[in-house]
Amino acid sequence: MVIVNSDKTPNLLVAGVNTLLVEVHDIRKNYQLGETEVHALRGVNVSIQAGDFVAIMGASGSGKSTFMNILGCLDKPTSGKYLLEGTDVSELAKKELARVRNQKIGFVFQGFNLLGRTTALENTELPMLYSKTNKDDRERRAREALVQVGLGDRADHFPSQLSGGQQQRVAIARALVNQPRMLLADEPTGNLDSRTSVEVMEIFQRLNAEGLTIILVTHEPDIAQFAKREIVFRDGQIKRDDVVEIPHIASEVLKTMPTIKD
Ligand code: ADP
Ligand code: MG
Repeated sequence: MVIVNSDKTPNLLVAGVNTLLVEVHDIRKNYQLGETEVHALRGVNVSIQAGDFVAIMGASGSGKSTFMNILGCLDKPTSGKYLLEGTDVSELAKKELARVRNQKIGFVFQGFNLLGRTTALENTELPMLYSKTNKDDRERRAREALVQVGLGDRADHFPSQLSGGQQQRVAIARALVNQPRMLLADEPTGNLDSRTSVEVMEIFQRLNAEGLTIILVTHEPDIAQFAKREIVFRDGQIKRDDVVEIPHIASEVLKTMPTIKD
C-alpha cells in the first residue's frame, strides 16, 4: 500500500502564501515641535503578508504618512519594533537602513518627483545608480520597467512632454526597477483625474497579481476599493482593519469610463 501524505501539498502552498513581510509592534512616533510634543503614531500594531494589497485611509493628520515613512525605512519610530522580512529594521544604523530601502522598497508619491531635465529612461535608472549595476544592465532594466507600465515608446521623453498619468507611470517604473519586495505609494492618484487614477490602479492590480506587495495611502474611498485590505487610521492609531470583500477590478471599471486621448 502507498501511503500518501495528503497534508503535504496544502501545507507547502500555505507556507508559500503566508510569508510575513511586515510586522509592526506597538510603534510610536513623537515629533518635537518647539515646546509641544506631537504624538503622530500612538501604538500601531499590524502584520502584512507578502502579496497583500493594502489601502490606508484616514483623515488628514491621522498618521498615514508617518506610518508609511517608517515602513519605507525613511524614518525610525520613537519606540516599538518593525520587522521587515524578519529583520528588525528599527535597530539598523542609517547607512544600513538606506541599503534596505534601496533594495527592498519602491516608492511612489503624489507629486511624481521626477527630475525635469532628465528623460523617462534616465529617471527610471536613478535607483540603480546607488548599486553597482553597469550601464548596459541599467538601461536594459529601465527599459523593461517602462514596458511594464506601458511606456516602452516614451523612454526618451522628458517629464514636460508627458501627461500627469504618464509621469506617474514613469515614477512607478522607477519604483520597480530594483525589483523591490514592496511598493509604497502615498496618495499616488492625488494629482490625477479619475480615469487616469483607475489606470494607475490597473497597473497596481497587475503588479499585485504578479506577486508584488502594495501599500497605498489614499483619501478616496473609491480608490481603496481596488485593494484587498483596508486599514483606517485615526489619531495615530489603527481604527479599522478590514478585508475588501469584493475588490473592484480596474480593467473592468475602465471599460465604463470615457476615454481622454493622451
Ligand atoms: P497624514 O499623512 O495622515 O495626513 P501625518 O503622518 O503627515 O498625517 O501627520 C501626523 C501628525 O504628525 C500630524 O499632526 C502632523 O502635523 C504631525 N507631523 C508629521 N510630520 C511632522 C514633523 N516632521 N514634525 C512635526 N510634526 C509632524
Ligand atoms: Mg500624508
